[in-house]
Amino acid sequence: MSPLLIGTCATACGVAGLLLPRAAYRFAVPFGEPLRDICVNCGASLPLGTRGWLSVRSTCPTCAARLGPATWATGVTAGLAGGLVAAALGPVAVLPLFLAVAVLGVLLAAIDIACRRLPDTLVLPALAVTPVLFAAVAAVTGQWGDWLRALLACLASGVVFIGMALLPGGGYGMGDAKVAALLSWYFGWLGWQAVLLGALLPWLLNAPLLLALLVSGRVGWKSHLPFGPALLAGGLLAVCVAAW
Ligand SMILES: [Zn+2]
Repeated sequence: MSPLLIGTCATACGVAGLLLPRAAYRFAVPFGEPLRDICVNCGASLPLGTRGWLSVRSTCPTCAARLGPATWATGVTAGLAGGLVAAALGPVAVLPLFLAVAVLGVLLAAIDIACRRLPDTLVLPALAVTPVLFAAVAAVTGQWGDWLRALLACLASGVVFIGMALLPGGGYGMGDAKVAALLSWYFGWLGWQAVLLGALLPWLLNAPLLLALLVSGRVGWKSHLPFGPALLAGGLLAVCVAAW
């Protein structure tokens, strides 16, 4: 385990995480509504171009109302995730891909907490490019066995989790299923043990949290809670446990 590698990855992911609040705000809309392009408080248009999406400011440039999650929260979470992934995997060729999905995961979790959605506009392109990017790595390193296992894990969990999302009454949505399939690609690359951990750990993480919220009366039995944060945190934990 190299402190330099961990520090570099934590810093890179942390800086990327600092830029996420505005994108999280713009994506956090209910189903069927267009992405936000104005401040909900004063109605001012958000800046055009890259600055309208990536910015360390989590407030409106015009009225200073808070838009999206706190900058420190996304920065610290992404930095921690990046450091943990680097510590778990070490200097491997696929490390940048795992770091990228860790930062994407922070953005997805922030959106899910805000509006209980994991938008297709983010998840589907990631699902589409992931096999291609991993194939590029396999072409260099010869890890085609890992690539094939990742593909099988992604397809198998896609079928299982989408089936679960179609069951009536569950708190598990189609967005959760697609993110679970995406993450399963990464687990599959590491091995079947990681796939199993990645499928189980989110439920283990979610159960005590749900129980605490129920006991404290913050939520009722019929409340619909976002599952994305547990899915993503459980995934991070699965990568760490499987690698160590
Ligand atoms: Zn404003």
